[in-house]
Amino acid sequence: MTAYLVRSRLHLKQMSTATTLRITRRAADRIRAGHLWVYRTDLESSPASETIEPGGLVTITETREIPLGTALYSSASTIAARVISRTPALSRAQYLGDLRARIDAALQLRRKLAPTSAKNNAHRLLFSEADNLPGIIADRYNDLVLLQLLIQGTAQDDVRAVVVAAFSAAFAKQKSALTIWERPDPRIRELEELPAPAPGPLFTTHTDSVAPDGLSFRTGAERDTDQAAPTTTHFALNGLHFHYDAASGQKTGAFLDQRLNYAAAARVVKASGRTGRALDICTYQGGFALHLAQVCSHVTGVDSSLSALEAADRNLALNPSLTAETEWMEADAFDYLRHLDDTARKTSSPNDHFDAIVLDPPAFAKSKRAAEGALRGYKELNLRAFRLLTPGGTLITNSCSHHVSLQDFTEIIASAAVDANRRVQLLETHAAAPDHPEVITLPETRYLKCLICRVD
Ligand code: SAH
Repeated sequence: MTAYLVRSRLHLKQMSTATTLRITRRAADRIRAGHLWVYRTDLESSPASETIEPGGLVTITETREIPLGTALYSSASTIAARVISRTPALSRAQYLGDLRARIDAALQLRRKLAPTSAKNNAHRLLFSEADNLPGIIADRYNDLVLLQLLIQGTAQDDVRAVVVAAFSAAFAKQKSALTIWERPDPRIRELEELPAPAPGPLFTTHTDSVAPDGLSFRTGAERDTDQAAPTTTHFALNGLHFHYDAASGQKTGAFLDQRLNYAAAARVVKASGRTGRALDICTYQGGFALHLAQVCSHVTGVDSSLSALEAADRNLALNPSLTAETEWMEADAFDYLRHLDDTARKTSSPNDHFDAIVLDPPAFAKSKRAAEGALRGYKELNLRAFRLLTPGGTLITNSCSHHVSLQDFTEIIASAAVDANRRVQLLETHAAAPDHPEVITLPETRYLKCLICRVD
């Protein structure tokens, strides 16, 4: 320990010109315990924090001036700094070098955990803190990569150049075509006060659209004039085919984190032997619905967004092997389930019940305070679903809010089962697919819960 302190002080001396950010003892303890975020409320009111350049590298120090590492500073977000290294006073060049090594490592991990094949060619390739790449997310949809540079420290041309170099080398090795589009989440961009990226592609191997030197990273002006790079593609999940449109304005192409849960849902429903009618509540572009259409004879997908359902219908058309009778309903999930529940209770006919129901609502709880209301929402949806299931039927129930823990969610499902007067067996508990890893010391990265239950 003494040796560490001596070395740390030495670092401080050497980096006397580097910017430091002093944080509270409590925040320092959290960072030492593996957390990676410094909130603005963690900052000691030191004048230095006012003069740091947006997106710049800062050395995090505790009150006693013990350096804890280097972080990317944001002048706008409630997360004032994200730790990128335990080494203090890292230079931008060192950060970019680490970035390349970490991107290569993330791509290598995907080759092992989620290898690309004709049946599965859409994955999350880079997942921010989970890959030690704060502020960078990249999703692959076959030959398109959607890049999100989410913070002031990463929405910069030097980072773009490193990402493009790493991806173009990796895809060239696989002999895959590649177009990279930068598509930041508009809400996050606003929080970070980032300018909109240039509209054209960041990179493309498309033959009609050759960058000035063939393969290099495109600057803003070149990106503006590029017309020929593809914005649409088809991709495959578990052997099913889906459309992707980078120009559609929809933030998310697909919920790739649910890839293995789609397959699990279809597997368990098939094994249940109850494969008549299936209901997919909050179907979005039909992810669960199309997987259930492989094993059930009738599938209804429900969503409040008409444009999502139109995409779901186009996805259905891409899969002519699916013979289930499939319909899409534009409706509010709560209203629709209430209506079905009322009808089923009046008629008590088996035709008004379902053998499988999926519930996958949006994150009701966007904050800790909203979690209580979210639990009420989950309770109502799950209660009605239990009532609507046939004996031996399957409930696939999801929560994607990290403010609602697995334990809280499981307890809500249990209390819904009790109120519905059904005996329920929890068969499987899943999280996000492994191409969306969690940082074990950063609970904020644990969000998706998928419970698969059998109802007596
Ligand atoms: N199950 C989907 C993902 C669902 S995302 C998949 O695997 O791809 C949540 C979806 O809920 C979105 O498509 C959104 O349009 C829809 N939604 C949000 N509020 C809703 C409501 N009150 N009723 C019905 N759908 C709703």
